[in-house]
Amino acid sequence: MYRSRYLLIYSLLSFIAVGAVVGLLLGYFFVCLVIALLAWSAYQISHFVRVMEWLSKEDLSEPPQATGAWGDLLDGLYRLQRRHRDKEKNLRSIILRFQQSSAALEDAVVIIDKKGHLEWWNRSAETLLGLSFKADRHKSLINILRDPRFVRFFKKEHYTEPLELASPLHPQVTLQYSITRFGDGDRLLVARDISQLKRLEQTRQLFVANASHELRTPLTVLRGYLETFIDQDFPAGIKRALLQMSGQTQRMETLVKDLLLLSRLESSQHVSDEYPVNLPYLLKRIVRDANLLSGEKSHRIHLQLNSNMDILGQETELQSAFSNLIFNAVRYTPPESRLHITWSVDTNGGHLSVKDNGPGIESFHLPRLTERFYRVDEGRSSETGGTGLGLSIVKHVLARHGAKLEIKSKLGVGSEFICHFPVDMLTDVEIEEPEVDNNISHH
Ligand code: ADP
Repeated sequence: MYRSRYLLIYSLLSFIAVGAVVGLLLGYFFVCLVIALLAWSAYQISHFVRVMEWLSKEDLSEPPQATGAWGDLLDGLYRLQRRHRDKEKNLRSIILRFQQSSAALEDAVVIIDKKGHLEWWNRSAETLLGLSFKADRHKSLINILRDPRFVRFFKKEHYTEPLELASPLHPQVTLQYSITRFGDGDRLLVARDISQLKRLEQTRQLFVANASHELRTPLTVLRGYLETFIDQDFPAGIKRALLQMSGQTQRMETLVKDLLLLSRLESSQHVSDEYPVNLPYLLKRIVRDANLLSGEKSHRIHLQLNSNMDILGQETELQSAFSNLIFNAVRYTPPESRLHITWSVDTNGGHLSVKDNGPGIESFHLPRLTERFYRVDEGRSSETGGTGLGLSIVKHVLARHGAKLEIKSKLGVGSEFICHFPVDMLTDVEIEEPEVDNNISHH
């Protein structure tokens, strides 16, 4: 830098010196001095113009020849530019390697900016999700993947669990979507083809479903004969045996029914169609059946509806989930126990609570309670006609509705089972309500 400054001053002084000497010799000192200064300025301007011309070129090839300070400046610029070009080459090769490796990935990888627009994706995203580089770049992702379940998933604040959905291009391909946030509100979407895994799972489910289905006919025949025999005059010992056999076949029938329901629930992660379910009507019907189940045990069942909002979903599935919870509360609590069923809605969503003041469940059982065939008290459960599948069915139905089951229980105090529904599964569409007599309070 110092060298350039000296060179510049040196060239200026040389021009002045030549101007002064020539001026003295010719007797026009000041005129020659001014001419020398003008010549020096013209010399500098011509170099400046050449540098600017070179810099404005697309392709910065060899710099123009120059001496002195301009030569140094051009050398410096050229070196800087070469260093920049090397760095760019390096970065480009890193990007190329990244693109090649992500293109080789079988999973679809998509980068989405903070506005939800598509920024970049790999080749698998084109084959699995049908994205097209020309048509879809900078488009909103939810305008391309429009399935309402995906849109709901994408709009979530936290992506704790992945979403399973058929590929928009090939319905027979099941994709597992997971999203991770990074940078300043950007998101990385990975879609994995899990069709193979799904097929294996389906084979297992199909086996359970087929076995259960095959058991249904022989069981119906057995029960039919047993019922005819019971009505006939047999010695007391045989009659008792027949009654027990009939009871056990009935249990087996409920077990088969529950197994079939479970395998149907397991066959897909979401309800296929969502309709507004008239919640007050549904709950009133279940409460009426629960009163019948309680019979002489005279449970005091109180239904409280704190909201007019309903749930979007499958009525039959919700009915079997809610009735499992409410019937459990009747079956596992002593006569005259109090049952409180409450439906309420807040900013977090809808909450259906089934609370009893029964014997409660020890806390170490709670994490395993929704497992298939898990029972707290084997003897008591079979005595009450339980299959051990009830809460497992509840969990599956709720998961298919994007909801979660919370279980609170204290030994000697009672239990509370709460179904938490997300806000987007609620609706306030008016549904006509048929009449059911019950003890209900509206708030
Ligand atoms: P089951 O079909 O045998 O009733 P569930 O899956 O419905 O099976 O329930 C699992 C276990 O949880 C039951 O065996 C029972 O011991 C316990 N349980 C469920 N609900 C209650 C309740 N309200 N109070 C006490 N125990 C309960």
